[in-house]
Formats: sequence, structure tokens, C-alpha cells
Amino acid sequence: MVMLALWMAGCTSVGMHTRERFAHDYGPPMQLRVCVLHTDDVTPQRIDTLIAAVNKEFRSYGIDVVVPWARPWQRAGFTHERLFDDIVRREVEAPCDRLVAFVDRNAGDALWGLVMPEVLGMVDDPTHTRGYVVATRVSLNQVFTSPAKATVHEFYHLLGCPHAESMDACYTRIVALKNARLADADFVPGIDEDGAFLRTRESANRVMREALAGP
Ligand SMILES: [Zn+2]
Repeated sequence: MVMLALWMAGCTSVGMHTRERFAHDYGPPMQLRVCVLHTDDVTPQRIDTLIAAVNKEFRSYGIDVVVPWARPWQRAGFTHERLFDDIVRREVEAPCDRLVAFVDRNAGDALWGLVMPEVLGMVDDPTHTRGYVVATRVSLNQVFTSPAKATVHEFYHLLGCPHAESMDACYTRIVALKNARLADADFVPGIDEDGAFLRTRESANRVMREALAGP
């Protein structure tokens, strides 16, 4: 399975903002309901701060991120693959549009970060509905990419934005995403790996189950 990861070495950007940002009509306000799993060390205040950073960034698109619930969560494994595997195997349940885990780091991760390019977050490619963000500032690499920046980056992926040099394609995608909502679906569509919209929660969950099951 392909996943969009924010690596320290390699891509760290969904692109630079351009004047195009203000050339679109983003339409009426939209809530994006992001349900949160968090490890013990990630406090509610920390989550609030990170979500506030996203809302500041998304204000110009008329997107307001709200958190219907935040539940304590035990990280599944030591490596980012194990951790991410646990998250993508969970269903996105109503009323959530997205499921995001905020993860702390421990000494083991810091050691691991010395030998591997460090992952600061990840969003699934088959549906763009699930992800995780490293929410605490411990490692050396995060001196350069703050948890707030990493959170904003991953949340752009949750809107279907790809890695790119400029944000131009991202603005267009945000407009399309807001227009793709079905009146009776009560769901902000997921986005599949080809960019097609998954307009119901059921279809987003089904596509993820199929991606996990393999070809
Ligand atoms: Zn990324």
C-alpha cells in the first residue's frame, strides 16, 4: 500500500502558497470533523493547539476543523508502519469525516530516528481519510519541522492535496472537494489514489478494507 509520508529527508512540502490561493471561490463554510486518537503524553491542550494551527491555515478556504471526540489510545508498535497499520484498520465511524492519531515519541523512537529518515506523519493514499501526526517535540528532526507544521501538512493530505512544488493544484482540489459533498451523505468525501471522490463513509471504509486485503 502506498502512503503519503512526511519525511525529514525528501519531500517536506505540499507546495508553496501562490496568489492563486485567493483566486478561487471556496463557497460556504464547511466543517471537517476529525476524530482523534491520542497517546497518553499528548494532552488535550496540545491537541487544541495543533487543531488551532490547522484552522488558522484553513480559514481562507472556509474550512473549520472540529473534533467530535478524542480518545486515549495505546500506540500499536515501535515503528511507523506498525503504528499506521493499526490506524488504517479502524473504521471511520459517524459522525467523523477523518480519523487522526496524535502520537508522542519515546526514547526508542529517538534512537530509531538516528539511523532512519524520520517520519513525522502519514496519511493513507487509498482514501485520504486516516492519518497520524507526531505531536510532541522531542527529536532533533523536529527542530526543523515543528509539530504544528507537520499537522498542517498532514491535514492538507486529508483534503486530497498531493506533494507538489506549488499549492495551485491543492486549491483546485479543495474547491472540488467542497462541491463533491452529497446533501444526504453527512460526510466530507474521501479521495482515492486516482483523485476520485468517495462520497459516503461506507464507500471510504470499503475502499480501505479492499486496499488492506490486497489484490
Ligand atoms: Zn506529505
